[in-house]
Amino acid sequence: MAAPGALLQVLRSIADELPAHEQRLNELDAALGDGDHGLTITRCCRAIREQLELLANASVAEALAAVGTAVVARAGGASGALLGSAFLAAGQAVADGQPIDAARVAAMLDAARQAVASRGRVAPGDKTMLDALAPAAEAARRAAGSGGSVADALAAAAAAAEEGADATGDLVGRAGRASRLGERSLGHPDPGAVSVALMLRVAADRLRAAGAA
Ligand code: ADP
Ligand code: MG
Repeated sequence: MAAPGALLQVLRSIADELPAHEQRLNELDAALGDGDHGLTITRCCRAIREQLELLANASVAEALAAVGTAVVARAGGASGALLGSAFLAAGQAVADGQPIDAARVAAMLDAARQAVASRGRVAPGDKTMLDALAPAAEAARRAAGSGGSVADALAAAAAAAEEGADATGDLVGRAGRASRLGERSLGHPDPGAVSVALMLRVAADRLRAAGAA
C-alpha cells in the first residue's frame, strides 16, 4: 500500500526531473514532427508543480484532477491534451478514496491508456505514447496479479514502457505529425513514448526510494 503523500511526491518528482530531458525530447521530435515535444513536457511539468503547490493537503484523486485540468489547458501540443486526459483518467480511477495498492496502480495506468487511445484515436503500433503506456498498464496488471507491491507494479510498468518506447523506432507513424512521414519515420523512436517511459521510470525510482511496500 502506498501512502497518499508518497504518490504526491511521485508527481512532484516527475515535474522536477522531466525538464532535464527537454533538449533530447525536442531532438527526437525534430526527426518526426516539429521539434517541440520537450517544450510541451516542460510546460506540463510547470503546470504540475503549480497545482501541487496550491493543493498541499489534497488527496491523490484531487491532485490528479487539478493536475490533469491544468495540463490540458496549459501544456499545449497534441501531447499536452493527451497527457492531461491521462492524468484526469488516472485520478478518476482512485476517486473513491480507497487505499492505493498495486491493483489500483494498474487500474490507474489502464484508465490512462484508455483515455489516450480514445482521445487520440490510436491503437498500439501506431507509433505514439500509447506504445509505452499500453505495455506499462499490462505489466502493472501482471505484477499486481502475482501479488506484487505498488513499487513492484510501477517498476514493471517502467521497464515495459522503456521497452515499448525503444520498439517505436521500428514502427511507421500512423498518428499525429509522424504519420506524414510514412516509411521515413522508421528508425526514429516516438518522443511521446519516450517521455511516458521517462515519467514512469521517475515514478518507479521515487516510490522504491520511499520504501513503499
Ligand atoms: P505536437 O505533435 O502537437 O507538436 P508534441 O510534439 O508535444 O505535440 O507531442 C508529440 C507526441 O504526441 C508524439 O510523439 C506522440 O507520442 C503523441 N501523439 C501525437 N498525436 C497523437 C495521437 N493522436 N494519439 C496519441 N498520441 C499522439
Ligand atoms: Mg511536436
